[in-house]
Amino acid sequence: MIVYYPNKILQCISRKARKSIVLNISEAFDVMKNIVSSRSEYIGIAAVQIGLLRRIVIIKYIGLYMHIANPIVLWRSKRMVTKMEGCISIPYVNRLVTRCAYILISYRNNRNIRIRKTLQWNNAICIQHEIDHLNGKLINDYKKVL
Ligand SMILES: [Zn+2]
Repeated sequence: MIVYYPNKILQCISRKARKSIVLNISEAFDVMKNIVSSRSEYIGIAAVQIGLLRRIVIIKYIGLYMHIANPIVLWRSKRMVTKMEGCISIPYVNRLVTRCAYILISYRNNRNIRIRKTLQWNNAICIQHEIDHLNGKLINDYKKVL
């Protein structure tokens, strides 16, 4: 069920999830949740990773799951953070990636309610990684830092 690199779909840009889809994607959310909960090191997943090209993401957030549809970045901090990242779709590969330490996003939850939220540190890194997936970008696309 997981789509692995180098499957070309991982480089595609996901389309916006319409309201009818957001309300009816509980099945996709369930599949994504099952994958993300299967290992403690998995902290987030984008729908493209189960072959669905829609702007839908799940991230683990303080022991809960955030259902995120159509995320929009409203603000990014100037402060940056560099951390080693892995990806469910690229097993055994880790890459140092520099990202914003804080990020303010707007998104729809699984009841189609628009929510604004500031995420920081690991949660900020995670959502930026997943938004990259929605835009067809992978950790492989970040230059190796020596
Ligand atoms: Zn990933």
